[in-house]
Amino acid sequence: MNQLTAFLCFILLAAAVQAEEITLYSHRHYKVDDALFAHFTEKTGIRINVVKAKADELIERLKAEGEQTKADVFMTADAGKLHRAKVAGLLQPIESPVLESRIPPALRDPEHHWFGFTMRARVIVYAVDRVDVDSLSTYEQLARDAWYGRVLVRSSSNIYNQSLLASLIAARGKDAATRWARAVRSNMSRPPQGSDRDQIRAVAAGLGDVALVNTYYVGLLLNSTSEKDRAAGRAVGVFFPNQEGRGTHVNISGAGVTAGASNPEAAVGLLEFLVSDHAQSRFPQATYEYPVVEGVPWSDLLSGWGQFKADSLNVAELGGLNSTAVRSFDLAGWE
Ligand code: FE
Repeated sequence: MNQLTAFLCFILLAAAVQAEEITLYSHRHYKVDDALFAHFTEKTGIRINVVKAKADELIERLKAEGEQTKADVFMTADAGKLHRAKVAGLLQPIESPVLESRIPPALRDPEHHWFGFTMRARVIVYAVDRVDVDSLSTYEQLARDAWYGRVLVRSSSNIYNQSLLASLIAARGKDAATRWARAVRSNMSRPPQGSDRDQIRAVAAGLGDVALVNTYYVGLLLNSTSEKDRAAGRAVGVFFPNQEGRGTHVNISGAGVTAGASNPEAAVGLLEFLVSDHAQSRFPQATYEYPVVEGVPWSDLLSGWGQFKADSLNVAELGGLNSTAVRSFDLAGWE
């Protein structure tokens, strides 16, 4: 190899190395994500530049940047937010046999714009010292008079509640879902406030007997550095509603490749990595979320909560029904 050829090779190599970076816009804030990204970089040589902000802020930023965006991947919790990004034209459809074969159809966009890589269930948690688990059955029965002054749940501006109500609309229709929301609102032991974690803390403090929360928050409290929070986690039991019927409402953390991605191949590579056995087996241990890939082992905590039947509704429907759910909450007076 003469000097000129060597020099040209160096230039080409430098260009190739430089191209191997992707930018990720993420609303997730877990240490395990950073560890997984580092592992991905080690395996592929592709560096990941992570920009963290709230989902709606990232969506606005993607809209403003358009085709000029540096982002290759948009990642967030809740199908409702991913649907919002898709409808705004911010994501592109992806053909990936890996993603299609690994992720159950209900946990990804039927039009391939986004894909779930973890699953969470929105469950009823109950005070183990004063609620008979046999008194629990469905989301619907939380509307009954027996629960007057006993229910804790956060505000309707929260996407998790909007997606839960969307699932009720899909199952029962808008009017029945609105009646449910009104009845649950009147059964609340205090006006909706705080986070999912705060609802669990409030059950532990005796401010109510049951709460609607995402499963992983129980795990986060049980593994907290605060003894008070660990005690709050121990004070509640996890109950999976609607096991006799459609199943418990589930949602995802997911990601899609942006419409303006400059490195879509590497972006797809990252999505495929997130559903690898390696990545999938990390989530139950680290974030107390469920893997989406069948057969990946759960952690002891998740196994302890038990197997459950999940609502088979495609989570994309939750996004489609989001604005209807928001109107229902308004009509119901659930602030
Ligand atoms: Fe969350």
